[in-house]
Amino acid sequence: MKRLIPLFLCIFFVSFLLHSQTECKITYIANEGFLIETGSQKIITDALFDNIDGNWCDSPSDSIVDLMKKALPPFNDIDLITISHKHQDHFNEGVVVQFLINNPGAKVICPKQVEFVLAQNPNYGKFKKNIIAITPDLYCDSITAVSGISIRILRLEHSHYMEEDTIHGGQINRHRDIENLGFVFNVEGIKFFHCGDTNPLNEKEYASFKLKDAEIDIAFLERLFFSKGAESIAILNKYIDPKEMILMHINPANQELFSNHFKEVENIKVFERKMDSIGYKM
Ligand SMILES: [Zn+2]
Repeated sequence: MKRLIPLFLCIFFVSFLLHSQTECKITYIANEGFLIETGSQKIITDALFDNIDGNWCDSPSDSIVDLMKKALPPFNDIDLITISHKHQDHFNEGVVVQFLINNPGAKVICPKQVEFVLAQNPNYGKFKKNIIAITPDLYCDSITAVSGISIRILRLEHSHYMEEDTIHGGQINRHRDIENLGFVFNVEGIKFFHCGDTNPLNEKEYASFKLKDAEIDIAFLERLFFSKGAESIAILNKYIDPKEMILMHINPANQELFSNHFKEVENIKVFERKMDSIGYKM
C-alpha cells in the first residue's frame, strides 16, 4: 500500500494540472474598449477615450472618463494598455496622458501614429518611457513582452470607408493611411486576440498570420465579421476560430439588434450595458 501512495499522489497532481483553469473577468467600457483582469494582471484595450458627441459610436460616460483619468478603481494598477489606432473612438490624448501621470507603472503599446500625437503633449517627457510604439509593415508582426505578458502585434488593415474623391473623381478609402494594430496576448495561459478596426475581408492578411495555430481562447471581434456576409464569416472560421467571441464596435442604435441576434449563441457575447462584466474559466 505504501508503494501505491506516491503513485496516487502523482495521478492526483497530473489530474490537477490538466484540469486547473485560469479565471478572467472582462468589463466592457465602450466601443472596442475593455478591461481584462486575471489573478495578477490588468489590461486595458482601446478604452482610454472621451465621451463622444453623437450616437455613431458607444463612448464612456463622463464619470467613467473621470475614473480613468484619475486611475481609480477599477482602473488602478493597470499593467498594460493597448491602443489599436489613433481614431477618437479608440484613443484620446488627454485621457491617456492623465492616466499615465496617475498610473506611472503602466506600459502602452500603440502604433507610431499614436506616439506621434502623444509626443506633442507638453508632459511627454514624464511618460515617454512608458510608450512602446510599433507599426509593423503590412502583413508583418512583432513580438514583445510586458510585465510577464507575451504580446504579438499584428499590422491589420483598417476597415474601408469609401467616399467620393472630389479631386480625382471616383471613390477613395478615407482610412487607407491609418495604422491599425491587432494584438494577441497570453495572460497566465489565456490567449486573447483584439483586432481593432480590422478589415474582415482581407483574406490575404488573415491567411498570412495563421491565428488559428495560436489557439485563441477569447477574441474581441469587430462586428463587421458578422455583417459583411458569408465571406467574412468564412475567414473568421478558417483563420481565427476562437473558442469564445466578444463582439465590439457596435453603435448604440444597433446594440439591440446584435444582442437579440446572438442571444442563443453560447460562445458569442454582446455586451448590453457599459461597465457590465463577464467571467471566463479557460
Ligand atoms: Zn477606426
